[in-house]
Amino acid sequence: MAVAVDALAVVREKVEARERLDFDDGLAIAESDDLLALGELADLARRLRGGTDDVYFVQNLYLNQTNVCRVKCKFCAFAMTRKQPGAYTISTDELVEDALRQREVTGFTEIHMVNGENPHVGFDFYLDTTRALHEAMPEVHLKLYTASEIHHMTTLSGLSHERVLTELRDAGLGSLPGGGAEIFAERVRKLIAPGKESPELWFHTHRTAHGLGIPTHCTMLYGHVETYEERVDHLLRLRAQQDETGGFLAFIPLAFHPENTVFERRGWRHTTGADDLKMIALSRLLLDNVPNIKAYWIMMGMPMAQVALHFGANDVQGTVVREEIFHAAGARTATEQKVDELVRFVRAAGRVPVQRDTLYNELHRWNGRE
Ligand code: SF4
Repeated sequence: MAVAVDALAVVREKVEARERLDFDDGLAIAESDDLLALGELADLARRLRGGTDDVYFVQNLYLNQTNVCRVKCKFCAFAMTRKQPGAYTISTDELVEDALRQREVTGFTEIHMVNGENPHVGFDFYLDTTRALHEAMPEVHLKLYTASEIHHMTTLSGLSHERVLTELRDAGLGSLPGGGAEIFAERVRKLIAPGKESPELWFHTHRTAHGLGIPTHCTMLYGHVETYEERVDHLLRLRAQQDETGGFLAFIPLAFHPENTVFERRGWRHTTGADDLKMIALSRLLLDNVPNIKAYWIMMGMPMAQVALHFGANDVQGTVVREEIFHAAGARTATEQKVDELVRFVRAAGRVPVQRDTLYNELHRWNGRE
């Protein structure tokens, strides 16, 4: 779009002067189809803010303890009612046994677990699981439960968000994943996730977690009915929260996968590679206070994640062992990417692979040709 050329020049000037970008700048970025210029600008912003050639990944295990959910978000291909044939709720003992078995073969340092909002369990279900996982693997970081799940636990237990989070933290919870944010705009939420908790509750949960010393992650689900304005608004709301509490470790843009959702029947398609790259660039440029932007390879594929490293991303997430949510919605990537492969892709992009823990402490670096 020709109109974006001048607007992008304004964005460039601001980036070079290290000025904060505003809503109109965000819109100019989102409306531009000058993909290479966007990549270059985002990479410039990343470097000017202290970014290096390091690209992070973590070894993690994905678990889902229950796919039973009361909410029925229209974009979700994972959730089921208790009576549906594929519904499951795994006991704490089974879950821990399974994680221990996996640990023998993969040596992960993080467990990432999210679930449906299961109305047939109590808060103890979550608390016992957290405690049991922590006791079985005290050295493994537990990144468990979205803000929606935390809110669900408050309704199950009658406890406040602060109390629920404090009890989970004391049982071994290390951080929260960023899910449940979807798109904050009311218009979109009504269309895709009318039963989901409000954005205010999502922010309240994260703000409370940050206040308790629990770092969290943040996300945006894009590529469905949202406008560019709504994407920019979403990012600016996250930025404002980060100004206030500083507890977000990373932002992960999540592309919508229509398979096995009501939207597949309406003929909706996946986002394009150009849209995914633009989204990474937009995130990096607007979120000047969130240190890490993830190119989530499980969703975009490793080749595209590799290109995204030149559009502002500095993290490729990890050696995800068993991912179910995006695969239920049609992601075709393999569910485990071996360390060697991640290293190869990162190096081929001209970057330095660094294995990290959840809190971005460096565990290993591949400097030479090892
Ligand atoms: S996205 Fe989460 S809350 Fe919504 S239906 Fe799926 S599992 Fe339930």
